[in-house]
Amino acid sequence: MRFEELPTPCYVVDENLLEKNLKILNGVMERTGAKIILAQKAFSMYTMYPLIGRYLSGTAASGLYEAKLGYEEMGKENHVFAPAYREDEIDEIISYCDHIIFNSFSQVEKFRDKVLKAGKKIGLRINPECSTQVGHDIYNPCAVGSRFGVTIEHFRPEQLEGISGFHFHTLCQQNSDDLAKTLDAVEEKFGPYLSKMEWINFGGGHHITREDYDIALLEECIKRMQDKYGLHVYLEPGEAVALNAGYLVTTVLDTLKNGMDIAILDTSASCHMPDVLEMPYRPPLIDSGEPGEKPYTYRLGGQTCLSGDTIGDYSFDQPLEGGERLVFGDMAIYTMVKNTTFNGMPLPTIAVQDKNGDCRVVHQFNYQDFKMRLA
Ligand SMILES: *Cc1c(COP(=O)(O)O)cnc(C)c1O
Repeated sequence: MRFEELPTPCYVVDENLLEKNLKILNGVMERTGAKIILAQKAFSMYTMYPLIGRYLSGTAASGLYEAKLGYEEMGKENHVFAPAYREDEIDEIISYCDHIIFNSFSQVEKFRDKVLKAGKKIGLRINPECSTQVGHDIYNPCAVGSRFGVTIEHFRPEQLEGISGFHFHTLCQQNSDDLAKTLDAVEEKFGPYLSKMEWINFGGGHHITREDYDIALLEECIKRMQDKYGLHVYLEPGEAVALNAGYLVTTVLDTLKNGMDIAILDTSASCHMPDVLEMPYRPPLIDSGEPGEKPYTYRLGGQTCLSGDTIGDYSFDQPLEGGERLVFGDMAIYTMVKNTTFNGMPLPTIAVQDKNGDCRVVHQFNYQDFKMRLA
């Protein structure tokens, strides 16, 4: 099917663009010997896992379901971190995962024997208390009162038995200069214990596939941990894997005026691109400009009853008309994993555009997907 023939709303993941990212990540792996795994939280479109698995070392999970998905659909190295594990899930989680990363010494105590008996590795998430991001505390695991990671104040050097690696995750959409700063803090606080470990996991938030990312400095950071402490290095980016690798295709349903021009689309910021409201950010829209840049400016909004369900103000060369299609960019990450059917909104179709530009629908949703989650 051609791109123009896809039903809307529809997420389309572009194999070429995804593979371009994977090649960049694989280059880092080849040159440094570090292992990079996909953080499924950002992108769990398992149709693409065979392709991703050709370039990356495996998957990272945040709990039982993601762990099971990575195990079933990629079947490579599988790591899990959760702020706390449930007793009724831990056995199954251990069966799917190679690294089980704990958030506290009490969790290590509780589950250490089970993990070691299964021949799996125990990691501890540390909190270097080094905030390198300004503004949004919702994405800052080093904010005051954060529930993530053991701080040096609560570190128990006498209880490291069975722990083979440290994990930290403090970045969000950041460059490698912030990673270097974070490593300084990790060394300053936890340096004496690093050489007792086998591996270190730098977490996610590395925007490695972004144009201005300094890959050379990332590789220096990796080598520093390898050479100085003899550590195996893991990274678990989510965003960087599928950054700019997908679209959301939508149709204009109507246009109206209220002090400005408004267009109603068959998609929803709240249901289909919640990061637009949460982050917040303005998604790229193909063939559009900033408000006022082109002659016709519209506020684009969704079909729900939420007043704030607007995607943003965009300008166009021609007035928008009902039936016209608009294509948003960067709609692979943190989109389908966060979908809701709030207000009875349908879930967008999921499709793939292959290397020749041919499109195929992978999954279409319907009324049952709304109903079955209610009772
Ligand atoms: C969210 C998260 C990631 C992935 O982060 P990105 O910003 O998508 O790269 C990796 N590891 C952990 C523990 C996370 O919470």
